[in-house]
Amino acid sequence: MSGKVTKNIVCPKCNEITQTEIYTSINAFNDPELREKALDESLFKWRCESCGHEARLTYPVLYNDMKNRFMVYLIPRIERFQLADRELEEEFDNLKNINKRLVPDFNTFKEKVFIFESGLDDMAVEITKLAISETVAKKQNLNEVTEGYLSMYDRETNTMGFTFFLGESKEPYVQSARLEIYGKSMSIVKEFAVKDKKLKGFIKIDREWAENVLYRYKRSKHHLQNTENEAKPTIKKNELEKKKINIEIINPQKKSEKEQK
Ligand SMILES: [Zn+2]
Repeated sequence: MSGKVTKNIVCPKCNEITQTEIYTSINAFNDPELREKALDESLFKWRCESCGHEARLTYPVLYNDMKNRFMVYLIPRIERFQLADRELEEEFDNLKNINKRLVPDFNTFKEKVFIFESGLDDMAVEITKLAISETVAKKQNLNEVTEGYLSMYDRETNTMGFTFFLGESKEPYVQSARLEIYGKSMSIVKEFAVKDKKLKGFIKIDREWAENVLYRYKRSKHHLQNTENEAKPTIKKNELEKKKINIEIINPQKKSEKEQK
């Protein structure tokens, strides 16, 4: 069942009140029409009955798709990583192995729906996206490319496409990738995100999360390489290699800068 409430919304232009139905939860399987409306955003459009003023409503929406076994909780601008909603947990306790995600904005919401409907693992997609964004940044001579989403997935041609937004003008840029990179990301997830897979409640799987996992992965490679090198007497070369690997590691400072904000 999809859930809705009736709210009185005051028009920001003429101050008149319009009674409006708001969907607080969407059941994509039972309400395919509602799914369409959510994805094309028409569900969030609001119109004043008195003056015709139009606005976009932002409010928390819980989207669930039990056929594809996922739930996405859109909570505008939410910053936390995990949200345990006991009431929801109890309600859906009978359904195991459901991917539960927390998203802060509409674009991420749409991307998650696309990923899970395509039968993909969003953790692996996020790691793939991070790796591809680094390639794009290098190619375009940019410090970093942080914004982007999965825009294409084609099993037959063995490709995945990401749309990134470059520079201050946020110029869209499409970069495709072979599915092998996704496969590699999948194996990283299996080894380095075991705990995350078991987390309860709704969790945020985004770029920051992927940076953390890739950091752990690279550090473990670093560690392995050092152990191998210990047997060799050429200390100088060992030092050089250490330095080279250090550069490859995603700078953890970036993280703390973000947290300070
Ligand atoms: Zn109005």
